[in-house]
Amino acid sequence: MKNKMFKKIASVAAISAVLLVAGCNSNEQKVTKAESAPRPIVIQGPMPIEAEFFADKLENVKIEKSGTFVFYKGKLNDYPVIVTKTGKGMENAAAATALTIEKYNPIAIINQGTSGGHDPSLNVFDIVLGKRTTNIGSLKTSNMDENQGIDPTTWIPMDLMASEGSGSDASANKVRYYEGDKDLLAAANAVKDTYTKGKVVEGTIGSADFWNSEVDRIKWIHEIYGTSVEEMEGASVAQIAQAYDVPFLGIRILSNNKTNGGTYDPGTASANQEYVYEVVKEYISMVKSK
Ligand code: SAH
Repeated sequence: MKNKMFKKIASVAAISAVLLVAGCNSNEQKVTKAESAPRPIVIQGPMPIEAEFFADKLENVKIEKSGTFVFYKGKLNDYPVIVTKTGKGMENAAAATALTIEKYNPIAIINQGTSGGHDPSLNVFDIVLGKRTTNIGSLKTSNMDENQGIDPTTWIPMDLMASEGSGSDASANKVRYYEGDKDLLAAANAVKDTYTKGKVVEGTIGSADFWNSEVDRIKWIHEIYGTSVEEMEGASVAQIAQAYDVPFLGIRILSNNKTNGGTYDPGTASANQEYVYEVVKEYISMVKSK
């Protein structure tokens, strides 16, 4: 009896072991398959006019949604490209980026769209390649008591990634810049002559959930941070991309520039996507030749 029981247990154990090994094998195969598939390039645009034009250019598009984020998964020159409509602002951009990285394991992320000029030498339809991107809405105020008023020009930049400590930590009293990825920048520079509606320059993109139309405030930000343009997404995408070590570049067209009287032109959104399309083709050929 005991012996019979032992045999039964032994055979169940043997079957389990076989199943376990089989399970391991199929997992291993899955991992190998995923690793050998090309990793997609992700192009983000906040508003419909900043994403759908590019999405229309992709082949074999499948649409996936998660929350309010829309992913247009398709092909460009036989390479996987995903356009993400993120929605406007830092929170949408950060969440969409984390989700995109976890779901699709991208090889690179380009955040692109419209922006407002901080540099008077840049005109509506000019394009800024984000050699650097920075958060211009993360600030510490001065110390003032009741009825002493408010004085925004005394506020100092606060780097939330400087330490894990509190806001009184002096190491946080600085601007954090996220560098644009060198290969993405090289691809963007290589095709800049294809763009004929304005100039393409390297610069600094500043991001925050605000739209500044006070010229003196724009000048103050321009002096403190060296910004070429402002928008509402790039720095939060750069921060999350860096957290996961994914190459990132911001590419922003000026749709308005209060500092030189450039009024808002929504037609800039598609012009930027036309240019970014050339950048992505160039980057794909760089990836394929590696
Ligand atoms: N339509 C709204 C504002 C849109 S939010 C209004 O009428 O006020 C602006 C969007 O365009 C954001 O996604 C941001 O990235 C970009 N943008 C363009 N110009 C901007 C500017 N001057 N300041 C901030 N964001 C700007």
